[in-house]
Amino acid sequence: MDVEARLSDVVSRIHDSERSAGRPLGSAQLVAVSKTFEADAIRPVISGGQRVFGENRVQEAQSKWPLLKAETSDIELHLIGPLQSNKAADAVALFDVIETIDREKIARSVADEIRRQGRPIRVYVQVNTGLELQKAGIAPDDTEAFVTLCREQIGLEIEGLMCIPPADENPGPHFALLATLAERCKLEKLSMGMSGDFEAAIQFGATSVRVGSAIFGIR
Ligand SMILES: *Cc1c(COP(=O)(O)O)cnc(C)c1O
Repeated sequence: MDVEARLSDVVSRIHDSERSAGRPLGSAQLVAVSKTFEADAIRPVISGGQRVFGENRVQEAQSKWPLLKAETSDIELHLIGPLQSNKAADAVALFDVIETIDREKIARSVADEIRRQGRPIRVYVQVNTGLELQKAGIAPDDTEAFVTLCREQIGLEIEGLMCIPPADENPGPHFALLATLAERCKLEKLSMGMSGDFEAAIQFGATSVRVGSAIFGIR
C-alpha cells in the first residue's frame, strides 16, 4: 500500500469504529502524525484530503510546516510533544492546537503568548494516566484543580484532555480514566488513541486520534 491507500484505510477504520460505537460519522477527528517525515512525504497525505496534522517537536515543525501551510490554506497543526517555556512564542505562532499543557509555568507562558500575538489557538491538558516517571502530563488526581487554575487564574480556556497510555498495558482503562476526568472537568474533547489502539479509543469516546505509523509507515 502507498501512503494515500494507508490514509484511506485509516479513515475507513475510523468510520467503522464510529459506526460500531453508535457515534456520528466524523465525530472522531484524525490527527495525522507526521513527525520525522519530510515535507515531500507529507504532501501526498495533504493531496489525499487530510488537513489535520500532529508534530512532537517545535523546531522540527518549524522546518517544514510554514511552507506546507503556505501551500494549503486550511491546514490545522497540533503540537503533541512536550513544550518548554522558551519555545512558547514559537509554538503559539505556528501551531493551531497545543495538546500538551501540563504545568502552571507552561500554561502561563502559552496564555501570555496567545494574548501578545492575538492568536486564539486551542489547548489541551495532557494527563499522565499511567503515572509514568519518564512521561509528561499532570497526575490524574491533580487534573481537575489544574484545569480550574488554567481557567480561573491564568485565563487559559482548556478545550480537552490528552493522554498517552503506557506502551505495555491494555489502553482501555487509561482511555476510560481520561473520559471520566474530562466529564468531571466539563470538557468534551478527548485526544487519545494512536496507530495500535485508535479503534479502542473511539469506543471509549475519543474525539481525536493521533495516528502516525499506520499512515506514514515505520519511523
Ligand atoms: C508519535 C506519536 C503518536 C503517533 O504514534 P503512532 O504509533 O506512530 O501512530 C501519537 N501521539 C503522540 C504523542 C506521539 O508522540
